[in-house]
Amino acid sequence: MGIATINPATGETVKTFDALSAEQVQTKIARADQAFASYQQTTMADRSQWLTQAAELLEDPNNSRSYAKLMTLEMGKPLQEAISEVKKCASVCRYYAENAADFLANQYTQTDASQSFISYQPLGIVLAVMPWNFPFWQVFRFAAPALMAGNVGLLKHASNVPQCALAIEDILSRAGFPDGVFQTLLIGAAQVESVVKDTRVKAATLTGSEPAGASLAAVAGTQIKKTVLELGGSDPFIILESADLNLAAETAVKARMLNNGQSCIAAKRFIVVDAIADEFEQKLVAAFNDLTIGDPMDETVHVGPLATASILSELDQQVLTAVQNGARVLIGGNKKAEPGNYYLPTILTDIAPDNPVYYEEFFGPVALLFRIPDLDAAIKLANDTPFGLGASAWTAIPEEQERCIVELEAGAVFINGMVKSDPRLPFGGIKRSGYGRELGIPGIHEFVNLKTIWIK
Ligand code: NAP
Repeated sequence: MGIATINPATGETVKTFDALSAEQVQTKIARADQAFASYQQTTMADRSQWLTQAAELLEDPNNSRSYAKLMTLEMGKPLQEAISEVKKCASVCRYYAENAADFLANQYTQTDASQSFISYQPLGIVLAVMPWNFPFWQVFRFAAPALMAGNVGLLKHASNVPQCALAIEDILSRAGFPDGVFQTLLIGAAQVESVVKDTRVKAATLTGSEPAGASLAAVAGTQIKKTVLELGGSDPFIILESADLNLAAETAVKARMLNNGQSCIAAKRFIVVDAIADEFEQKLVAAFNDLTIGDPMDETVHVGPLATASILSELDQQVLTAVQNGARVLIGGNKKAEPGNYYLPTILTDIAPDNPVYYEEFFGPVALLFRIPDLDAAIKLANDTPFGLGASAWTAIPEEQERCIVELEAGAVFINGMVKSDPRLPFGGIKRSGYGRELGIPGIHEFVNLKTIWIK
């Protein structure tokens, strides 16, 4: 597939781009390498000033609206959500601009030396391979800590969001970061291998699907290069008898439908105890029925189109397979009969462990509903997945909360709330959802040389 902006609401090809040639990629890597030589000498105060300026550019209402429209045009998220995404990018810039100096300060420890400490030093060029679903946020949550740590970045963005990729490069350049510190490489997935293998590139991070993550990590492994992988998820959303059912149902809709259902940390499996399952099911069906589906540029719309035609046909096929193998459709279950990549908000139930979709991620507006007798069964089902990204559990009972915190296999557990990312809290998964962490203090420590210093 080529690099292009294709409006998911209409199917119209708006703009196409040529991928960089191997020589052009070499030129950009050389420029990044040259930039690193001087950028690593810049002060934290300078970097902080540039990142704050990036936040200001993002916060300017005219800019934020036009960046948001660009995202909606290229991948179809509702415009209001795109505007929130731009604001969140500004917040991650401010967070690291204000705190990176503390997070990277020397850590002193008493030993037999007269002085011994940890010093955090940049690695050099870090490659970021990013997905289209949060086309600004995914990039800024990598770039803000990486640039504050003194690294330089190369971005290989998803092929369907090239204009977002170029806009981000432009923002960081206009914010004052020196030439070559952050560059976009308009390349296809097949060109990633040669970039990872280049000796000037020191590390890589990938947010995306399992196959893409495995492929990048395999290449990086041959070169002994550090990677961070943020991959898929099939997050459980457990509702126990003491939960505030109205709030849980209301939140369940948001947690499933955010970004037209295309979020790694979306709640995908709703696991409800028998005692309240009928009531929850009725509430969820009614709420899905009330959702407005349509043009994502229309600010009253809740659910827009899926990002690409192939994602739509994959999801449609997945639902078909589920139903052919015994799943029951409570609402939806079809594409919308009009142009654009629209899929109706759908709830499936009666998904048995031998259904081929049981262990799969549904990347779209499809909720899977499970009924279980008690907390033991809820935890067992929640953990019966190859993924381990986030988990949300709803209960007012402290002992049940504690069991969920300890026993759920996930990188994050949210009690009585939906799983969400926050610049102040680390984000990442276990199992096949990946490894490493972004955001918070651990996020800035991923791409640094944690250097031990010992002075006699
Ligand atoms: P994808 O197909 O894996 O694409 C992600 C990025 O990887 C794109 O830039 C893509 O480039 C590139 N890519 C694909 N195959 C590659 C390969 N073999 N080697 C190197 N790069 C490769 O993922 P997607 O379908 O866009 O995104 C959906 C998946 O991402 C879901 O599973 C979702 O859960 C996950 N996700 C995870 C997180 C998280 O933080 N854990 C966040 C968002 C999404 P092209 O576009 O050129 O193919």
